[in-house]
Amino acid sequence: MRYISTRGGIQPICFKDAVMMGLATDGGLLLPESYPQVSGEKLESWRGLSYPQLAFQVISPFVDDIPVDILKGLIERSYATFTHPEVTPVVHQDGVYILELFHGVTLAFKDVALQFLGNLFEQILTERGERLNIVGATSGDTGSAAIHGVRGKKGITIFILHPQGKTSPVQALQMTTVTDANVHNIAIHGTFDDCQDMVKSLFNDLDFKEKHSLGAVNSINWARVLAQVVYYFWAWLRVTDSGSQKVSFSVPTGNFGDIFAGYVAKRMGLPVEKLLLATNENNILTRFINQGDYSLSGVVATVSPSMDIQVASNFERYLYHLYQERPEKVREAFAELREKGRISFSADEMKRVRAEFCSASVNQAGTLATIDSFYRETGYLLDPHTAVGVGAARELLPADTARVCLATAHPAKFGEAVEKATGSRVPVPDAIAALAGMPTRCEEMDADLEQVREFIAARVG
Ligand SMILES: *Cc1c(COP(=O)(O)O)cnc(C)c1O
Repeated sequence: MRYISTRGGIQPICFKDAVMMGLATDGGLLLPESYPQVSGEKLESWRGLSYPQLAFQVISPFVDDIPVDILKGLIERSYATFTHPEVTPVVHQDGVYILELFHGVTLAFKDVALQFLGNLFEQILTERGERLNIVGATSGDTGSAAIHGVRGKKGITIFILHPQGKTSPVQALQMTTVTDANVHNIAIHGTFDDCQDMVKSLFNDLDFKEKHSLGAVNSINWARVLAQVVYYFWAWLRVTDSGSQKVSFSVPTGNFGDIFAGYVAKRMGLPVEKLLLATNENNILTRFINQGDYSLSGVVATVSPSMDIQVASNFERYLYHLYQERPEKVREAFAELREKGRISFSADEMKRVRAEFCSASVNQAGTLATIDSFYRETGYLLDPHTAVGVGAARELLPADTARVCLATAHPAKFGEAVEKATGSRVPVPDAIAALAGMPTRCEEMDADLEQVREFIAARVG
C-alpha cells in the first residue's frame, strides 16, 4: 500500500515513511491510495476473533512493509495494556450501545491509537537506527496518552508542554507521575495557546527541527486513524451478534480523527447506516453538515474540553474524498478559507455529505441534562464528551437502528462535571486513586521560548 498527500505534492510513499512523516511535506495529510475491501463473507469470518486478532486483520492490508509476525506482536503488545479483556467492550444501556473506549492507561480513547503508535515508532526507529524527539503541547488528554504510549521506548524522547494548573488534576498527575528517563514534562506558567505557540515556533525553526530530529504525535498521523478503524468493525460485529441489522455510530468530535476512522471503515465496506457527528458549542462541523456553512468563529470553553476545537485537522482528509480525490480542489478550498474565513460547497457536494453524515450540536445544559437523565434511568455514568454523543444520538438516530455511541473518556476523568450533573460522587477507579501517592517529575518554566529551546536541546536523545 502506498500513501499520497491530499495536496498532491509528494511522490507516493510506503507505510513506514507515512508514519514517520506525520504531516505531508507539502502541507497536506497522508492517505492510502485505495481502501482494501471487506466483503460480507470475510466480515462474517471475523466474528470469532479477539480484539488484537481483529486489529491485525483490519490493519495489515494497509501495511506491507512490516513482517507479519512483527506487526502481530506489536498489535498484541499495544492492546495488552488495556484492563478489559475485550479491550473496547460494547454495553447495552437503555436503547443505546455504549462503545467503551476508555479502558487504556489514561482512561480516554486516545490510548487506542497512541499505544499502537508508540510501538510502531519504536519498531521503525530500531530498524533504521534512528532517533526521534517528540515535542508537543497539550491541554490534557493527548499529552498524557502520548507520554504513556512512548514511555521507556527505545529511540524516543518526549517533551510535553502543558499549562501549569490549567489541566485537570487527574490529567496533570497522569503526565507527571511518568518518571521514565525518556519523558520530560514541562509545566508552563501560561495558557495552552502559549504552549502551542512555542511548539509551533520550534517546528518552524527548520535548523533546530532537523538538528534534533523533532517529530509530533498530533492526530494527523495516519497510524492513529488506522488504529481507530478497528473498533468500528469490533462494535459492528458485537452489535450484530445480538441480532441488530442496521447500525449507526454517534461520535463526539473535535479534530475529526475519530469520525474519519468510521468513514474509512465504511469505505472498506462495513455496512454503516449513518455516521452522526456530535459537537458541543464549538459547532463548525455541525453547521457544515446541516447548513453547508463552514465558516470560522471563536473557540468557547465547555465541559467537554477535548472537543473545544475550531479547525479540525483531520477534516482535510474527508475533503479530499468529497472532492473525488482531486488535490487541486483541496488546495483551492484552503486558499478560500485563508482569504475569506470560510469554505463554500455546491448543492451536489452537500447532498453527498448528507448521504454519509448527520450532525447535532449539544450545548452545556443539554450535556449535563443527558448525564443526569441517563444516570437516573440506567445507573450508568457518562463522561461529558460521551454525553454529547448520546444526547445527539437520542435526538437524531431512529430507534430502529442500533445506535452505537462512542464513549471517549471514563466519567472519573471529568468527575467534576459529572458530579455537577448528577449531584452524586463519581467512584474513583484504582488507576486514578493510585496516582496520588506516586512520585512525580516535572519542570516548571515561564512561557519563554529560549528557556524551552535550551531545555530541549540539553536533553534530546
Ligand atoms: C480527543 C477527544 C475527543 C475528540 O476526538 P477527535 O478525534 O479529535 O474528533 C473526544 N473526546 C475525548 C475524551 C477526547 O480526548
